[in-house]
Amino acid sequence: MSMPILLLNAGSSSIKYQVIDAEDETVLATGLIERIGEASSTIKHKTQGETFEAADRYADHTEALAALVAMFDAHGPRLANVQAVGHRTVHGGSKFDRTVLIDDEVIQALVDLSPLAPLHNPPGIAGIKAAKTALPDVPHYAIFDTAFFAHLPEEAYTYAIDRTVAKELSIRRYGFHGTSHNFVSHRMAHFLGRHHDELKMIVCHLGNGASVSAIAGGKPIETSMGLTPLQGLVMGTRTGDIDPGVVAYLNRSGMSVPDIDNLLNKKSGMLGLCGKNDFRDIGAAIAAGDADAKLAFDVYIHRLVFYIGGYMALLGGLDAIAFTAGVGENDATVRAAVCERLHTLGFHLDAPRNELRTGRAHIISTDDSPVTICVVPTNEELQMAREVKDALEA
Ligand code: AMP
Repeated sequence: MSMPILLLNAGSSSIKYQVIDAEDETVLATGLIERIGEASSTIKHKTQGETFEAADRYADHTEALAALVAMFDAHGPRLANVQAVGHRTVHGGSKFDRTVLIDDEVIQALVDLSPLAPLHNPPGIAGIKAAKTALPDVPHYAIFDTAFFAHLPEEAYTYAIDRTVAKELSIRRYGFHGTSHNFVSHRMAHFLGRHHDELKMIVCHLGNGASVSAIAGGKPIETSMGLTPLQGLVMGTRTGDIDPGVVAYLNRSGMSVPDIDNLLNKKSGMLGLCGKNDFRDIGAAIAAGDADAKLAFDVYIHRLVFYIGGYMALLGGLDAIAFTAGVGENDATVRAAVCERLHTLGFHLDAPRNELRTGRAHIISTDDSPVTICVVPTNEELQMAREVKDALEA
């Protein structure tokens, strides 16, 4: 029996999708709709080794989903076989600690949570509504980026601000990229032939967005992102940690709240420091002697080492660490710089293994390294498909 599941990741002007057979975990189709709401939108649809493209104007997510249905009808796979739709949903607040069947109540809860994730939840809701219209006869599930971290220890998720204000406005650490941290930590344990709950692990999800988590006893005990995905590591275009006083100072200096939001989310991080946010370009700039790129790289590594060291203290030791996502999987220089700084804490990198690109989970530490260092490719869509399958079978 096959169990094709359509997985959607709706952004403000784009929708990424995959169809995965949750029985044998094969990918039946992948694709991307871009520039929704602009003068010319596009769909790129890949299935059975072929790529099909279409361009038109899709005014909103509903029109984009209708065009997607037409693409499936023309080139397959058959949507009629799809048994469920899974929606990547960024913010589940304290309400959602697992994948849930979407009904009107869930949609209303997502609307209520939108102030916590104004950039992410509204397009997600638009995607859900459009997909429910296009595919009304199958169950739709929400898979939350925050769910894996819903049960962090209270001392880890509590911010030290006035408790009444925090309660009133739901201010706490939520954590994001949970689907990836969940997948990678389980994949690493499995790959090392160990049980997930017997390892002390750190997962470094280093993509354009970046976060790190500490996992012990099978559960996350800390993670670097907070109320929003802005906290923590230096990212492609986001600041990560800064003194919160900077926000009030910028505002008093005449910058509006939306401009501050834009500065911290879109014009900061590596881009703000050196004008580039792709690590391939940053590596090339450093090689060419660009001092800003070198400083940006050093700030990035400094913050990451700071987090890993702190998490080792919280965990009381460390068995294994995984590097994942675009930078973590591909940039051997970043991994080498981190491990060099942590050598005295048991990070013994094997340089040739670190340079290998296998596309699979592999160990990059020496055989006698106190900490096992791994590269573990993430697969958020597969994790989503597994969670939808579990929900369907529950
Ligand atoms: P993600 O958000 O996980 O898709 O990661 C995207 C980021 O990964 C890009 O912005 C690059 O900085 C980085 N990246 C992708 N491929 C490479 C590569 N071959 N070498 C270094 N960095 C890479």
